[in-house]
Order: sequence, then structure tokens, then C-alpha cells
Amino acid sequence: MRVGICGGGLGGVSAAIGLASLGFEVEVFEKSPTLRATGAGLNLWPNAGRAIYGLGLREHYDAIAVKLDRYVGFGADGEQLFSKDTSNWPQTYGAPSVGVYRLALSTMLAEAFGKDRIKYGHEVLSIEDKGDRAVCHFTNGESYEGDLIIGADGIYSVIREKLVGGVQFRPNEHHAFRWRAVVDLKDVDVDPAAQTGFYTSGGWLSVIPIGNGKAYWFGSVSGAKTLDDFIAFFSGWTKTHIPRTLGITPRETIVESPLFDVDGLPFKWTHGRITLLGDAAHPMMPDMAQGASQTFIDALALRNAFARSSDVDEALAAYEAERRPAANYVVKCSQKGSFLGRHNVSPVAIRYEEEIEAHVA
Ligand SMILES: Cc1cc2nc3c(=O)[nH]c(=O)nc-3n(C[C@H](O)[C@H](O)[C@H](O)COP(=O)(O)OP(=O)(O)OC[C@H]3O[C@@H](n4cnc5c(N)ncnc54)[C@H](O)[C@@H]3O)c2cc1C
Repeated sequence: MRVGICGGGLGGVSAAIGLASLGFEVEVFEKSPTLRATGAGLNLWPNAGRAIYGLGLREHYDAIAVKLDRYVGFGADGEQLFSKDTSNWPQTYGAPSVGVYRLALSTMLAEAFGKDRIKYGHEVLSIEDKGDRAVCHFTNGESYEGDLIIGADGIYSVIREKLVGGVQFRPNEHHAFRWRAVVDLKDVDVDPAAQTGFYTSGGWLSVIPIGNGKAYWFGSVSGAKTLDDFIAFFSGWTKTHIPRTLGITPRETIVESPLFDVDGLPFKWTHGRITLLGDAAHPMMPDMAQGASQTFIDALALRNAFARSSDVDEALAAYEAERRPAANYVVKCSQKGSFLGRHNVSPVAIRYEEEIEAHVA
């Protein structure tokens, strides 16, 4: 069985690891010229950990991920708003909630699959389903033909656009941008085993440890359109460490990500011998920090569907039946907003238990 995976991000490479473990001949095509050398952090939940463990990567993952024992929240004057103990989540849910450096995670996955097996510099131009096989054409003039092609080309998926079109991205009217950066943990005054957040209804900023002596901060401010607006919002929060944290962060290392609400869901993932996985299948707002978790679950579900059936159509139907409703539910949860922000929902660690673990994890 020849499988081509378009997109060498978190989802593409995890799916490759899963399918290669079944003896499939898997090739990964990535548009970037090399493995990305930069990246920020990720907050991953027990459902991500269980899927990564299921792909056979427990030791590798545990070695790079920092277990979070608490989620604590403070107001602008430093007063405590909530504290959620998550130290027993490995026993309760089978894996910890963690902070992880995205670059360490993508390097770990690439090494587990085989870095030299990822074909960089391959950007998908077009794709065709030919009944019992699929063909993909790249902008470099090359083509690939396989029994199955997986579109794991991220939130702005070209493959999804060619298959279903119609997915509309609307700038999020409350939090149009997320700003984030990686700094030295010793320079920020936070509990090294916690996610520490500072919240008001107008804006928030959270910090998590991500290993290797690093911490990752991320935040959004209602109505902020520039980094200067974002930084200015926190200037008076002198009873917290935020002004200092922002002050010690080199400006050129701060990443600005526009945030979008997604219309046009749900759409079919599988079209003949082509299917979607990860953000390409379920683009979502990052407010639940579930995008990557859902992506790892897709990769494991796809592997398991093929472990149960060697019939491609049957396996793909089982994969989509298991994953599409669950992922679309998480997309909806992610649209609700954030703690003290839009719709004033519970803190994310509480929402994880109530909305994700209790329903779909
Ligand atoms: C600000 C922000 C914060 C986030 N925080 C979290 C978090 O804390 N926890 C969490 O679980 N999730 C988080 N997410 C979501 C998470 O980043 C994604 O869900 C995850 O990366 C999806 O993996 P993927 O493989 O589907 O896509 P990606 O990781 O985006 O990988 C897609 C790959 O496809 C490649 N590609 C794109 N187009 C083509 C093409 N035409 N041809 C070939 N290759 C192509 C890209 O270069 C990329 O390498 C966050 C997202 C954002 C925007």
C-alpha cells in the first residue's frame, strides 16, 4: 500500500509514523525547504498524550514535555482568580497536561519517522482522485501517485480547497490576534510546574514552561491590532510580572498570529482515495488549545482503522465516522471564546474536563 502525505507538520508526520508501523510505503511531502528551525510553545492535553503514546512515542514524548501540575489564574492586580490541580491527570486520564516546545516536538516526530524520508520543497499544486488511486502534482514539476493521499497541509489547506472549497475565515471579532514568544524560564517569575495566566475581560496573557530552561508566553487583547497595542494594554499591570516579561522579550522574537472563526463546517473529509487530517480537516480557534491534540488523535485513528481493515474505502469510512463528529464538536467548543473574554467561559483546564474529556476524548 503506497501512501502519500502532503504536509510535514505535526499531523502529517504522526500519520506517517502510524501508517509506516503497519508496513505501508509512506512518503511525506512538505512545502518548506527544510525542517522548520523556529517555533513557539504548545499546551497539550491528556487526549494528545494518549494518542502520542498510542503511536508508540511515549518515551520520546515524556522526555521533551513538561508536566503541568496546576493551572492558576490571577487578575490585573495579582489577586488569585482560580487554581485547578491537574497533578493527578496521568492517573485519571492516562497522560499529563504538558507544555512543550513546538520545535522539540516536530524534531522528535521527524526523527521517529526518519528525517531523510521527508521530501522538503514539495508544495502541492493540484490533486486528482482516479478511483483506485490518487495523484498529486507539486509546484516543482514532480508528481506522486499512490493508493491513498492524505491532505495534512494545515489550516489553509490547498487540498481541502480543491476538494470542498467553501471554508470561510472571518477575523475573530473579539481577539483578532494572538501574540506569543519563547523566553528563558529564569527570567519570568512563575511556578515552573504550572500554567500561570493573568486575565481581565479586555485581555489576558499566560505563561507555561516548555522544557530546556524555556517558557512560552501567549496572549490576546480585545481590539488590539498591533504589537504596540498589545504591550500598551499591560503597561499598568505592575503588580504582575507581565510588563517585565514583555520588556525582556526581544521584539523580533514575538510571533503575531491572526485568529479566525471558521465557517463552512462540516464538510466531507474523504473523496475517493484522498482524505484530510489535522487542521486541514478541522480548522479551529486556538482558545481550547486543542488543534494539535485533535490532530494526533486523527493520526492514531487512521492507523487503527487500517489495522482493522485492509480495504481502503472501509478504513477511510471508519476513520471519518470516528473522527469527523468528534473534531467538529471540538471546533464548536473552541468558538465559544476564552475565560473572561468573549462569552466569559470557565478557565480552559476546567473546560477540558467538562467539555472534552467528558464528551469526546
Ligand atoms: C496561535 C496558535 C496557538 C496554538 N496553540 C495550540 C496549543 O497550545 N495546543 C494545541 O493543541 N494546538 C495549538 N494550536 C493549533 C496547532 O498549531 C495545530 O492544530 C497543529 O499544528 C495542526 O497540525 P497540522 O499538521 O494539521 O498542521 P501544521 O502543523 O500547520 O502543518 C501543516 C504543514 O503543511 C505544510 N503545507 C502547507 N501547505 C502545503 C502545500 N501546499 N504543500 C505541501 N505542504 C504544505 C506546512 O508548511 C506545514 O508544515 C495553535 C494554533 C495557533 C494559530
